[in-house]
Amino acid sequence: MQILDGRKVADDLLAHTKEEVRILINSGIQPKLAFLLIGKHPASLSYVKQKEMACQKTNIQYEHHAFPETSSTQEIISLISELNHREDIHGILVQLPLPSNIETPLVIKAINPEKDVDGFHAYNLGKMMLNKNFESLTPCTPKGIIILLETYKIPIEGQEIVMVGHSNIVGKPLSMMLLNRNATITTCHKYTKNLKAHTLRAEILIVAVGLPSLITGDMIKPGAVIVDVGINRVDGKLVGDVNFEQAKEKASFITPVPGGVGPMTVACLMANIVIACKKLTQKNS
Ligand code: NAP
Repeated sequence: MQILDGRKVADDLLAHTKEEVRILINSGIQPKLAFLLIGKHPASLSYVKQKEMACQKTNIQYEHHAFPETSSTQEIISLISELNHREDIHGILVQLPLPSNIETPLVIKAINPEKDVDGFHAYNLGKMMLNKNFESLTPCTPKGIIILLETYKIPIEGQEIVMVGHSNIVGKPLSMMLLNRNATITTCHKYTKNLKAHTLRAEILIVAVGLPSLITGDMIKPGAVIVDVGINRVDGKLVGDVNFEQAKEKASFITPVPGGVGPMTVACLMANIVIACKKLTQKNS
């Protein structure tokens, strides 16, 4: 069994992004991200901190806009409109989830798709449906998982892949990106009858649900590649959705939690900022 070392691959990707940023800065362009954080959700604060650290590592500038929990959808959209028009801003990131009084779809829709570095805007998600060549600003976790599999030379084409979870940020876009790469993909969710019957067929099993030990050893095909996206806190410890101790006896490759998919997500955000920056500055020159 081999560990899919997301931390190592992410560090390499960050180093590559830093080099791209250096070239941009030398040509007079400073990539810059605007963070919007609404409320003080502890997990969101910690994710923003990790993303800020990655910006520092790659020399991407950032500015931080904090809103109180009680802010209105319109107040947030007004700032987004301003940021959409600023030439020095290349990426806009609204840290999700938003408080329940805010209309998340309207907020995401307000972001200029060219600055949508999270890849959640319907324009970017829709473009991805066409084929792989139209993937550009794709959601960071799916992008990170594809890069991780490619780095370890794990074939995707023709493989039987089971995706558990169909959220808009992980399961759905990743299913589409795998289909774009000619995998035979089955997407499972809460309403799937007999989850185990599907997972047992998987040559690559990807799990993004948020339930610790949802996947146990008896649900895994011997030799399968396991990608665990879940982040759960159990007794003060971070664990995924896959029972790691049982899975490692069956899997050929497995991502650890932490140190698997998480670092890839952050590194892909930095890569998306550079993609957005290059496209925007080419357009304006
Ligand atoms: P989400 O929006 O809550 O989606 C969870 C998905 O799991 C939904 O599709 C849900 O189906 C499905 N589900 C719920 N119970 C299930 C069950 N018993 N069997 C099968 N499917 C079930 O979550 P998310 O944002 O995709 O995140 C999922 C997990 O990944 C969380 O732990 C999150 O913290 C983690 N995450 C990690 C990263 C990273 O970088 N490592 C990034 C994003 C998310 P229904 O919609 O039908 O209820």
